[in-house]
Amino acid sequence: DQGKPHGGTVVTADEAESHRRGLMLVLSSPSGAGKSTIARLLLEREDNLELSISVTTRPRRTSEIDGVHYHFITRERFEQMRDRGELLEWAEVHGNYYATPRDPVEKALGEGRDVLFDIDIQGTFQLYDRMREDVVSVFILPPSIAEMKSRLHRRAEDTQEVILRRLKTAVGEMRHWTEYDYVVVNEDLSRAYEAVRAILKAERHKRARSAAIGPFIEGMVGDLEGELSG
Ligand code: 5GP
Repeated sequence: DQGKPHGGTVVTADEAESHRRGLMLVLSSPSGAGKSTIARLLLEREDNLELSISVTTRPRRTSEIDGVHYHFITRERFEQMRDRGELLEWAEVHGNYYATPRDPVEKALGEGRDVLFDIDIQGTFQLYDRMREDVVSVFILPPSIAEMKSRLHRRAEDTQEVILRRLKTAVGEMRHWTEYDYVVVNEDLSRAYEAVRAILKAERHKRARSAAIGPFIEGMVGDLEGELSG
């Protein structure tokens, strides 16, 4: 009778499991470490995980869909959202603004859904300041600089200039490695993916995320004590 309350127990096992606050899984990495592939696999294969869709003032690439990859907005609209406090975090990256809209994230967390973020380091630190307890950050690293460069070149969609800029950004970001909760080296994609999945799974069981686990356990202990003394 797993799902049913025993005697005086007021919270069932199912309730204890489902009354959990969602978590914010933030994946960061220098370009060429394989972050987007890992993110895509997680979204495809994990239940209860959704992507936070950012707003950006960057022009849409032909491969991108408005409302799927980003919400493409004007600079004016961005400033309006920022000034109204509608953004959880924002950053300027390579001359464009990027930001996370607040409402969808707060709604998901409150409803126990987990949210995946593909944001840069400036954004990650703003989330730390505002919602440290909800954030689980993972830094994904390439196995070597040579491999990172070769992945960037193989991708072939960027010019030499863009690649050089990405590498420069990478140096700055990698210096912050100590500020992440977890570090995963992506030598082998499926092993790196499994590592991130294990992190997500473990973090879902964190005691502090469950408002109902206390009443559930206390209820069971109370029942057991009653039985033993009665
Ligand atoms: P891209 O233009 O290549 O899509 O993204 C450029 C950078 O902006 C990436 O490092 C990406 O993680 C970051 N980024 C995307 N969305 C957001 C966001 O909402 N907030 C922040 N802080 N960074 C973002």
